[in-house]
Amino acid sequence: MLETILGSECPSVQKGVLVSTTRELFAGHGIRCTPQRRALYEALLGTRSHPTAEELYRIVKPATQRLSRATVYNTLETLCEAGLARKLPSYRGCCRYDADVSEHLHICFREDGAIQDLPDDLGEKLIRHISEDVIAEIEDRLGIGIDGISIQLLARRKDA
Ligand SMILES: [Zn+2]
Repeated sequence: MLETILGSECPSVQKGVLVSTTRELFAGHGIRCTPQRRALYEALLGTRSHPTAEELYRIVKPATQRLSRATVYNTLETLCEAGLARKLPSYRGCCRYDADVSEHLHICFREDGAIQDLPDDLGEKLIRHISEDVIAEIEDRLGIGIDGISIQLLARRKDA
C-alpha cells in the first residue's frame, strides 16, 4: 500500500531533464510562456538548492529584463498551482521552491532553513518503516483516507 502511495500520481518532471521545451510544457499546463516565467522556471529546474523566491530573483534578475519581485512571487504561485513546482515550508525563514515534483523527502537545516533532498534510497527505506497498521489505524480512527506521505526531517550540520 505504501509503495502505491509513494509512487503516486504526481506529474513527473525529472530534475535536470527538459522533457519538452519549456514553451510546450507551459502550453500543456495552460500557462502563458513569457520570457520572465521561462527564465524563472528553467533556473528553478536547474538548481537543487530549493531556493527562496528572493534567492531565485537574485539568480535570474541579471539576465532577465523587466523582472520584478512581484513577478517572481506570482510566477512561483502559478507554477505551483499548475503542478510544475512545489512550495516547501521551511523550518526557518521563507518558503522554498522545488521544480522536482516527483515524490521525494527533504531535510531542512535548523541553522538557516536550507533544504536538501534526501537520497531516494534512504527516503524509500524510511517510508518502508512506517507501519501500514498504524496508517490503517489512523484512517479508521479519524475516518479519513491517507493518499500521500510528506516527511521533512529537521537536522543540524555536524560541522556547525
Ligand atoms: Zn526537493
